[in-house]
Amino acid sequence: MKIGMIGLGAMGFPIARCLLKAGYDLYVFDVMKDKLDEISREGAHPCAGAGEVSACVSVAFCSLPNASIVESVLEEVFAQSGLSLDVWVDLSSISPESAKKFAKKAAGCGFAYMDCPVSGGVRAAADGTLTIMAGGAAETLEKVRPALEAIGKKIYHVGDVGSGSGMKMVNNFMLGCNMAAAAEALVLGSKIGLDLETMYEIVRNSSGRSFIIENKIPDFIQKRKFSGGFAVDLAYKDLGLAMETAKQFSMPVHMGSTALQMFETARAKGFGKEDITALLKITEELMDVEVR
Ligand code: NAD
Repeated sequence: MKIGMIGLGAMGFPIARCLLKAGYDLYVFDVMKDKLDEISREGAHPCAGAGEVSACVSVAFCSLPNASIVESVLEEVFAQSGLSLDVWVDLSSISPESAKKFAKKAAGCGFAYMDCPVSGGVRAAADGTLTIMAGGAAETLEKVRPALEAIGKKIYHVGDVGSGSGMKMVNNFMLGCNMAAAAEALVLGSKIGLDLETMYEIVRNSSGRSFIIENKIPDFIQKRKFSGGFAVDLAYKDLGLAMETAKQFSMPVHMGSTALQMFETARAKGFGKEDITALLKITEELMDVEVR
């Protein structure tokens, strides 16, 4: 079966690899030529754009930074003649409103759009063990379920289009707050003389544990590696989506607002493209200590 993959970044590239491994005939596009070349060497067909991908495949996935980029890519698809596309599966994290808008336009062009944001980070993307939050018609989900099973371990049908994105927004609200809290707590621990290995071992077996503790400490903080992973800019975008949504309900969001400001500080420090663990460096600098 022919499948498309548009966006070969931190998440999209390992997802593309999983689809190749599962035996799919993969048509790919990314604006970064080096990524396109690399996945082509592994057996994918490089395309000149999202339009070309959508003229070759029945199911296309995309994993793109934000809704405006998804929209520009979809505009190219809407304008493409001779579409073979049946379902567009959007793995990006965007707002529920954007997902609903894209679904409506896609229906007018004769294909279904599903929002299927993912969670688990780069490690789960590489292992094909992502958690997938699907929004769309149940029968559409069944059409793409085998392909989703090649990249994810848990597939949840949350509800209609937009509900997957809403669920992901809720998840990343917590992720952002957890990262901000972990950054401060780990620096405080260092100040009182606790070493990172002790804090990691004990907290991951205690009530303070989270994805940040279980995955981000070994993969990033212990290695003092702040590249790759989940970019500060992307987490900032996701927290911003949650803050905008809360505003619609006049809902106070103290934790989210504080976390958002920590991410804003990281961006101001030039860490926007680094992994979210870069938040740690801000508090470390402030307190003149390195968590190790
Ligand atoms: P990324 O920035 O690493 O990758 C995005 C890719 O899209 C890049 O390779 C870029 O060149 C490509 N791109 C940009 N504009 C394009 C265009 N017009 N046409 C084709 N390709 C284009 O981002 P990522 O970390 O892979 O995240 C992708 C999506 O997944 C985001 O919405 C993010 O919020 C979400 N997400 C990320 C993680 C994570 O841990 N990194 C986890 C879950 C969800």
